[in-house]
Amino acid sequence: MNADLYDVGIIGGGPAGSTAAALLARANRRVIVFEREKFPRFHIGESLLPFSMKAFTRLGLHEKFRRAGFLKKFGGEIFGACSEPGTKFYFKDGFRSQTDHAYQVTRSDFDKLLLDHARESGAEVHEEVAVDRVEFLNEHVDLAVRRNGSVENVRARYLIDASGRNSVLGTKFGIKKSYDHLQKLSIFAHYDGVWRAEGIDGTLTLLIRGIDRWFWLIPLTTERTSIGVVLDSDTFKKSKLSAEDFLEQSLAEQPIIAKRMTSAQRGSEVYTAADFSYRSTKLHGDRWLLAGDAAGFIDPIFSSGVFLAVFSGEQCADALDEVLDHPERARKLFRRYERAVNRAMDIYLRFVNAWYTKEFVEIFLTPRNVLGVAPAVNAVLGGNVGNSFGIRWRMWVFYFLVWLQKHFGIVPRRTLVPNKEELPTRVGVAS
Ligand SMILES: Cc1cc2nc3c(=O)[nH]c(=O)nc-3n(C[C@H](O)[C@H](O)[C@H](O)COP(=O)(O)OP(=O)(O)OC[C@H]3O[C@@H](n4cnc5c(N)ncnc54)[C@H](O)[C@@H]3O)c2cc1C
Repeated sequence: MNADLYDVGIIGGGPAGSTAAALLARANRRVIVFEREKFPRFHIGESLLPFSMKAFTRLGLHEKFRRAGFLKKFGGEIFGACSEPGTKFYFKDGFRSQTDHAYQVTRSDFDKLLLDHARESGAEVHEEVAVDRVEFLNEHVDLAVRRNGSVENVRARYLIDASGRNSVLGTKFGIKKSYDHLQKLSIFAHYDGVWRAEGIDGTLTLLIRGIDRWFWLIPLTTERTSIGVVLDSDTFKKSKLSAEDFLEQSLAEQPIIAKRMTSAQRGSEVYTAADFSYRSTKLHGDRWLLAGDAAGFIDPIFSSGVFLAVFSGEQCADALDEVLDHPERARKLFRRYERAVNRAMDIYLRFVNAWYTKEFVEIFLTPRNVLGVAPAVNAVLGGNVGNSFGIRWRMWVFYFLVWLQKHFGIVPRRTLVPNKEELPTRVGVAS
C-alpha cells in the first residue's frame, strides 16, 4: 500500500464498492478498495434488474458478462400459492422500456468479475484486508486496516462505505435503523434439475406468494436454480425445525414448487439471512458517503438490492469525481446524492409494504391494462426509479386499485393457501 494520500478509500468490494471504484479509477482518480474476504465468495442476491444495464454499458461489462455465460433474464412471473397460472411480465413491455433483459447471476462469479474489473480499470484492490477503524479529520480520513493480524494506516480524502449489511459507518455513528414491520427471515439453497419452461419463460424469476410466506425460484445456469423462502422469524422459531428441514417441508407443501422439483437435488448447503430491512438516517457526512446495502436495504422481494448498489455506487462516484475538483460543491452534491438514493429506496419501500398485503397480490394476479398501469408497474419492477410523471401518476392509480380491492373487492379474492390435492408424490431435495 502506498503511504500517500488517496483520493477515495472504499470499504467493501461488492457491487456498490466495485462500481464506484471502477468509475472513479476510469476518471483517473486514485482509489483504494478494501475487501475483507477473498473472492469468489458466496453471496445471495442473484436476480438483477434491467435498469442496471446502462451502468453496465458505461462500465464496459457486457462482453465480460457474455464470456462468463450469465443467463439473460427477460422478466418475472408472480403466483398466488393457491393457483396456477401466475401473471407473467416481460421487461420489453415496461413503460418506455429501453432493454428487454437483465441477468440472473451466480453472485460469487459476478462479484469477482466486477471487483477484477475495478482492478483492471486502475483501482488498487486489497482482498482479505478488513477496515477496522475510521477516523475523520478536517482534510482527510484515516483508515486502520487489518491484514493477516497486523494493522496498517491508510489516508484518503474521501471515504465510501460500501461494506454491505456490516455497515461500518452506520454502526460507528449509530444511524442504522431497522424496519420493525419487515423483520423477516430467509432460508435458501441452490438446486439442480428443477423443471423450467422452454425459451425465455425459462429465464423468468418466479415469485410465489403464500399466506404467511413467499418463495423465489431464480434460474442461475442451465442446470442450477436458486430457491428460497421468506417469512416472519417467529413462524420459523415456533416450528422448532432446523433450517434444512423447514426449507424442505415448505417447498414440499407448495404444489407450484413441488411439481417443478420432482427430479431436483440440492447442490449447496442451506443458508439463512435474518432481519434484513433497514436504512441509515444519514447517507453522507463531510467526507463520507454510504452506498449499496451500507446505505439501506428494503426486503429482497423485488430484487432491488444489486440495482440499488450499482445505482448508488455510480451516483456517488460521479458526485465525488466533481467534488475532488470542486470541494466547495461537496455539501450540495452530497445532499443531492442522499435525496436520489432515499427516493429510490422510498419507491421500493412503498412497493414492498404493498406486497405484504393480500390485496396487492389479488390485483397483480388479475391484470387489466387500465390506463397503462401494467407497463408502469413493470417499469418500476425493472428498476425505473426516475421522476417520470407518466410512471408516477400510473403508480398512484395502481395503489388506488389496491385500496379499492381492500375495501370493495373489485377482483376475485384469493386464499393464497396451497391446494394439497395438487401435490406430486415425490419432491427431490436431498443433497
Ligand atoms: C435473502 C436475500 C435475497 C436477496 N435477493 C436479491 C436478488 O434477487 N436480487 C438483488 O439484486 N438483490 C438481492 N438481495 C440483496 C443483495 O444481496 C444486496 O443488496 C447486494 O449484495 C448489495 O451489494 P453491496 O455491494 O452493497 O454489498 P455486499 O454485496 O454485501 O458487499 C459488501 C462487501 O463489503 C465487505 N466488507 C464488509 N465489512 C468490511 C470491512 N470492515 N472491511 C472490508 N470489507 C468489508 C464484505 O465482505 C462484502 O464483500 C437479497 C438479499 C437477501 C438478504
